Amino acid sequence: MSITRKWSAKRQRALEILVRLKQLYPVAPCTLRYETPVQLLVATILSAQCTDERVNQVTPALFHSFPDAAALANVDLAELATLVRSTGFYRNKAKNIQAACQMIVSQFDGQVPARMEQLLQLPGVARKTANVVLAHAYGINAGVTVDTHVKRLSYRLGLTEHTDPMRIEQDLMRLLPSQDWENWSIRLIYHGRAICKARNPACSACVLSDLCPSANPMQTNQVTDIPASVTT
Ligand code: SF4
Repeated sequence: MSITRKWSAKRQRALEILVRLKQLYPVAPCTLRYETPVQLLVATILSAQCTDERVNQVTPALFHSFPDAAALANVDLAELATLVRSTGFYRNKAKNIQAACQMIVSQFDGQVPARMEQLLQLPGVARKTANVVLAHAYGINAGVTVDTHVKRLSYRLGLTEHTDPMRIEQDLMRLLPSQDWENWSIRLIYHGRAICKARNPACSACVLSDLCPSANPMQTNQVTDIPASVTT
């Protein structure tokens, strides 16, 4: 099969997967709680290696005391670290939040920039965080958010042969309509948590099994032939 036809077939399969995920998870909101772009940026930084539920437990007190970029830019770092401690990697996260907010104040007039290249200048902000902020704060689909679930499922579903998030994102952007880039990620995360778990995917209960090259209808054990780097 030519490369063009191979991508065309893969695109068709990706679209069918998208349709089924939309049926299965009709509503796909961002589960982080925030009121402003700055608060979404901070919550997204805190969500690294942490659940959204945990972040949502921490942010009300944080945003009550430090509601905007100016307040967070001038926060006492030790106090900020204490407030976000339960999200893990708290010293690093606190340092990045303060430094990002200082840059937002000094270079972007106190507003989170709405352009990818500017967002990527902020300390602690890589494409994953920037994609979330652009999509949910500004309605801009600049890319596909690739977290651990999106990485694992995209690989298992045969939509990428890569394990590097940047290359996975490029593959997914090639396969999916831009207006669905962000909701794809959210729905894949839902599916990863509910069905296609890292260690014990429930293929027999999966609506994607006939479209999935990794499917095992009798699946009760870990899917085989998957690099360890995409199952964690
Ligand atoms: S069929 Fe199995 S491996 Fe494929 S997406 Fe569903 S649960 Fe995951």
